[in-house]
Amino acid sequence: MADEQKWVYDFAEGSKDMRELLGGKGANVAEMTRVLGADRVPAGFTITTEACVAYMQAGQEEPDGMAAQVADALERLQEHTGKRLGDDDDPLLVSVRSGARESMPGMLDTVLNLGMNDTSVEGLAKATDNERFAWDSYRRFVQMFGNVSRGIDGEAFEQAIAEVKSDRGVEEDTELDTDALKELTDRFKALYSEHTGEDFPQDPQEQLRLAIRAVFDSWTGDRAREYRRINRIPDDWGTAVNVQQMVFGNKGDTSGSGVAFSRDEVTGAPEPSGDFLPNAQGEDVVSGARTPRDIAEMKDWLPDAYEQLMEILKTLEQHYGDMQDTEFTVEDGQLYMLQTRDAKRPAQAAVRFARDAVDEGLLDREQALMTVDADMLTALLVETFDPKADYEVIATGVPAAPGGAKGEVVFTAADAVSAADEGRAVVLVRPDTNANDVAGFHAAKGILTSLGGKASHAALVARGMGVPCVTAASELKISLEDKCIRVGDRTIGEGDFIAINGTNGEVTLDDVPLVDPKEDPAFDEILKAFETVLGWADDTRRLGVRTNADTPTDARKARELGAEGIGLCRTEHMFMAEDRQPKMRRMIMAGTREARKDALEQLLPLQQEDFEGLFEAMKGLPVTIRLLDPPLHEFLPDLPDLAAQVERARIECTDDLEELEELLETTERISEENPMLGTRGCRLGILYPEIYEMQVHAILRAAKAMDEPPHPEIMIPLVDYEHEIELMRELVVRIGNDEGLHEGEDYTVGTMIELPRACFVADRIAKFADFFSFGTNDLTQTALGFSRDDVESKFVPVYMEQKIIDRSPFETIDKPGVGWLVRLAAWVGREARPDLKLGICGEHGGDPDSIEFFHMAGLDYVSCSPFRVPIARVAAAQAAIIHAHDRSWADA
Ligand code: PEP
Ligand code: MG
Repeated sequence: MADEQKWVYDFAEGSKDMRELLGGKGANVAEMTRVLGADRVPAGFTITTEACVAYMQAGQEEPDGMAAQVADALERLQEHTGKRLGDDDDPLLVSVRSGARESMPGMLDTVLNLGMNDTSVEGLAKATDNERFAWDSYRRFVQMFGNVSRGIDGEAFEQAIAEVKSDRGVEEDTELDTDALKELTDRFKALYSEHTGEDFPQDPQEQLRLAIRAVFDSWTGDRAREYRRINRIPDDWGTAVNVQQMVFGNKGDTSGSGVAFSRDEVTGAPEPSGDFLPNAQGEDVVSGARTPRDIAEMKDWLPDAYEQLMEILKTLEQHYGDMQDTEFTVEDGQLYMLQTRDAKRPAQAAVRFARDAVDEGLLDREQALMTVDADMLTALLVETFDPKADYEVIATGVPAAPGGAKGEVVFTAADAVSAADEGRAVVLVRPDTNANDVAGFHAAKGILTSLGGKASHAALVARGMGVPCVTAASELKISLEDKCIRVGDRTIGEGDFIAINGTNGEVTLDDVPLVDPKEDPAFDEILKAFETVLGWADDTRRLGVRTNADTPTDARKARELGAEGIGLCRTEHMFMAEDRQPKMRRMIMAGTREARKDALEQLLPLQQEDFEGLFEAMKGLPVTIRLLDPPLHEFLPDLPDLAAQVERARIECTDDLEELEELLETTERISEENPMLGTRGCRLGILYPEIYEMQVHAILRAAKAMDEPPHPEIMIPLVDYEHEIELMRELVVRIGNDEGLHEGEDYTVGTMIELPRACFVADRIAKFADFFSFGTNDLTQTALGFSRDDVESKFVPVYMEQKIIDRSPFETIDKPGVGWLVRLAAWVGREARPDLKLGICGEHGGDPDSIEFFHMAGLDYVSCSPFRVPIARVAAAQAAIIHAHDRSWADA
């Protein structure tokens, strides 16, 4: 049929650009065939991912025409190799391997030695003059085919092998002689019949049909689904199936199999690395059943094949322009390449390769930058779980701040502080955290919460400080009252050991060793490479990169990591220190404006000191300071705790009863049903202008106290109406005049854009703002109506499972929804005021995908946690490279 869909491609027809259709493996084998020549790559064909999708859609029915196309391709393969499947004289054998668009190591199925049957085993024995080898191939095939395509438990086969070995008094599989292997093959066939009620299929065409179905089916297996969910691979991609002529690494002493990388895959050092095993098939190398040998030793074993392999690795790296991860087989001294792909690599190898590739002339700077996975770079800055360690995972949450941490469990910030004073390492464990817990963050090695998510309080603060943090570990039932964590049938109490991995969200009770990347001897070189790569990123990017920091320490850290200013200082954190809290409380409790002003008067010098510290740390760079934003109840104790305390005080008639009752009365009065939509942000400034007046005085006096004038940018939070910003701007300018400073010269005034209404009326708001900073945390919360502190532990996982969303909208910007609001506000804001400066300071400012979006939206800078600054620098450069020829949406 002329217009029948093409489901099958010979390797000779494909190329690396056909990845979506042929899968990564199929596309690369095809490419490699063209680059290295047909002699180096065993021939074969690929059944497309589209065939798999059609098969799934039809309820596990092969699409029309596929069977005939497979038969034709097989015929061509037989002609090309001059061998036939099932032949009694030198038969063709094939491997049937999965190959999705993105590699999913070990998740999908593979069948080797297909074509073995009672006839071809004799043929293979004759052709190779090696009866043992032929029977070993047959028994391997029955075992693998039975396991993969009929689901027979691998253990049953292993059991049979163990029995035959013990009967014969041998220890190793390699010591089994031909008779033993014949016996094993019979046993395996019997197992197959027992399990399936059918004889083991002798017809190679039938074997192939079943094996292809098995690979398709493995796409929908539980293991593969789970892997896709974690790695965000869409379920509807499907897998291709590669049918390839087998070559044998287990034919004898001049045969073998191995894996080889074009450079050291861990350190990125420019020497090839890898493992091999003589007289073995590929599965033996990766399964760990035998201990493989280092690739360098291959030189002594088969010098010619070794030299050829080294040459090929170079050729492939040159051709792909990236580090390669290959599999090879040597059959009777002849080297064959089975597959190649871009190597997955840790951050250190990524930066080392990028730098060296440019030095060697392999890539230009832009190409090299594109090989780096920006999101991984924080791994170079923090201690992590030893990647070699084994540990039992008791719960998994959201990886909220990278790095590994371990210590005794504590449940309150105060306990964390006192433990730290005694020099004990602790992990602060709570259902969630609030501004009151900040002191505990400094004291703890790590933070673990059962609620929250990527943008919850715990996540923001921990990331800012570089403290490892896992949030939304919802399997943990944390009781603050009983001071214990319940998980499954275990109870973990205060003082018990716990370890968290903020890089992948895992929680364990095992004492996992932590490794500091800087202690790695190769790190000096890596650090140099890191600096070089970051320098290139800076030369390439258009977006500025600032940081969210509230303390001089964080600010200095961020500056070291390349921040070009502070994009968000959350001043509320400054009121949390122990010496500030009582003063802050007094201010909140004040019954009259005069009393409030009085309390603020005492806070002013402390705030001024804070700002001086920040200006000093950020000398010469802009510092955006946000006036008080959170609802005031966040500075007061929890209502239920306080009510219980008052109750107790009443019973015991304690001295502080009156004071506590007053505190309770205020807390009740100001608490709200929906505090995040309540009296917060500029609404506070309008109700209590004296608070903002004090803060502006503090900022401007600090500015005047500096030797070198700083660049303060005063930011008004949570604006909805243009009159709000108009009023607040007047307030700032009035204080500015009082301090003898000039708006526009000595300081600027702008606003957060974090409410949908503000985006719609951004042109009106822009009339009163020198800059906008998109608060995409709140904007996501208010645009979607998703509570940022709750959803990630509640329904976001189910939404991801059900494919309503791919990723949490608090982690990566919801482009069509929230992103559209950002684009709209940027566009109309600039229409009203062409010189309007635009930034983003929500958590999305450190997410590479979102950064690409902000680049296109025409923003001027992104601002993120200190430890994400290097990520943002590289991601901003990548966005500029990807869109080098596109106009930003704002200009289009
Ligand atoms: C935001 O809402 O995006 C923001 C940066 O402010 P915060 O996280 O402090 O609410
Ligand atoms: Mg906000």
